[in-house]
Amino acid sequence: MNLGMYLARGARQWADRPAVLFRDGALSYRELELRSNRLAHALKGLGLQRGDRVAVVSPNRPEIVELECALYKAGLVKVALNSRLAHQELADALANAEPVACLAGPEHRQMVDAAAQGVVGLAHRIAFDPEPDDAQAGWRGYEELLAAASDAHFHEEMRPEELAVLHYTSGSTGKLKAAMQTVGNRFASLRKNAMGRMHASPGDMLMLSGPITHASGMFIQPMLFQGATILLMEGFRPGEYLEAIEKHRVTMAFLVPAMIYALLAEPSLRTRDLSSLRLLSYGAAPMSPARIREAWAAFGPVLAQGYGAGETTGGVVGLGIADHAAAIEGGRDALLSACGRPFCESDVQVLDDAGCPVSGDAVGEICVRGPDVFAGYWREPEQTAQALDGQGWLRTGDLARVDEQGYIFIVDRKKEMLVSGGFNVYPSEIEAVLAQHPAIYEVCVVGIPDDHWGETVKAVVVLREGAKADDSEIMDFCRGRLADFKRPRSVDFVPQLPKNGNGKLSRKDVREHYWRGRERR
Ligand code: AMP
Repeated sequence: MNLGMYLARGARQWADRPAVLFRDGALSYRELELRSNRLAHALKGLGLQRGDRVAVVSPNRPEIVELECALYKAGLVKVALNSRLAHQELADALANAEPVACLAGPEHRQMVDAAAQGVVGLAHRIAFDPEPDDAQAGWRGYEELLAAASDAHFHEEMRPEELAVLHYTSGSTGKLKAAMQTVGNRFASLRKNAMGRMHASPGDMLMLSGPITHASGMFIQPMLFQGATILLMEGFRPGEYLEAIEKHRVTMAFLVPAMIYALLAEPSLRTRDLSSLRLLSYGAAPMSPARIREAWAAFGPVLAQGYGAGETTGGVVGLGIADHAAAIEGGRDALLSACGRPFCESDVQVLDDAGCPVSGDAVGEICVRGPDVFAGYWREPEQTAQALDGQGWLRTGDLARVDEQGYIFIVDRKKEMLVSGGFNVYPSEIEAVLAQHPAIYEVCVVGIPDDHWGETVKAVVVLREGAKADDSEIMDFCRGRLADFKRPRSVDFVPQLPKNGNGKLSRKDVREHYWRGRERR
């Protein structure tokens, strides 16, 4: 097995067709094959061995697609990091992953230098767009490295259980943890995408504006396998996004709900020609039925939802376009509250605590088994044992009901994570940072309802006796310590926090105070 080997076929079959479009430049299938071969040879030439980890910290750019292909070809492991991580989070992730090489753009090089101090074994730093001072700081230019390497076809035979990706998620213990995705998991993900939701042909173009170093990178291989084109955006700006759909005749897109809300509020939405779109896939966070209806009216019959996690190597449950049509046009309104039915590659069940499938009104936990379920958390045996049970079921922590037709309805999350704008936020991680503030005696962080972001972070604070601090000071304290999407957007001050019988903080009671009368899907 090798996830990069089929690119040689792509280079013959679709030679001059664009594999990646970026700004107004294109990278053809032939160029992608040759440049990723060069990179694979170059990394091997630097002494990297099969199984070594390679990190990349950068906003979207075509070299990340080349890198992804080269790593698979060479049997190296991609360290998937969100480029929006704050300094300390990046330092923790690099210390945990211990990459042998790290690639970065000019935006992140200083941050990587600072975060990587003390990271054992980081022998190679490779710069996109190097600047004159970079060589002195130990950075080698990316193009220079490629120029000196052979472009002959390269691939290592891999076993399915070998590691392909370390996918970093934020852990509820406050530290980042990495889901280990194997070669077999990534193949299963490629199959389920190419045979299902992301089935495409060479005329298709998928627009990606989320970080491809991280979760959005999941769509790269299925698109390249099918000869389609990836339109890479550096970031998400609603006006530009709609303009790009019209200009490039984009056919497929993936968005989180907060991005869809931003598009719905964008004045140019009404004037753009979006008729090329045939699939607008959304997921990663719940979206309210009212907003789904609004999006259906604006974009037409192209909406499909996916539910999944890093631990399941992408989506495992989906609500397809036909389901949306049945709900919106066929009068089956309740269906819009479902996240869908299982995809073919995944074995998904909603199980009670005894491991039995639930039915009717009973609530259980969504559990997943199958070739796309990860191999555990990197260097975290206890967390792995909690997530994967003896029968191979992944316990997702999402609580749900299931109807007689197999549609799954998420009712709440067992884990305390909140999702803000599609990004996962773990309250205890923020509490750990706030607890360092000298004026704070006690703090509880919860997600509160927000029409735009789904949820936003609220800190509920008890100040030390005699201490003074206002909300902006507390929010500022998190700057530089936490990624911007994790920072509290509001702070309330209270004399005391609710406790349970054991004297432990009852986050549930705090949360209920803010969610009273609102439904948390
Ligand atoms: P991640 O591993 O970062 O992809 O986060 C996975 C979690 O995001 C899941 O366990 C869910 O709690 C949440 N999630 C993902 N997709 C959906 C969806 N379609 N609807 C509601 N929550 C979702």
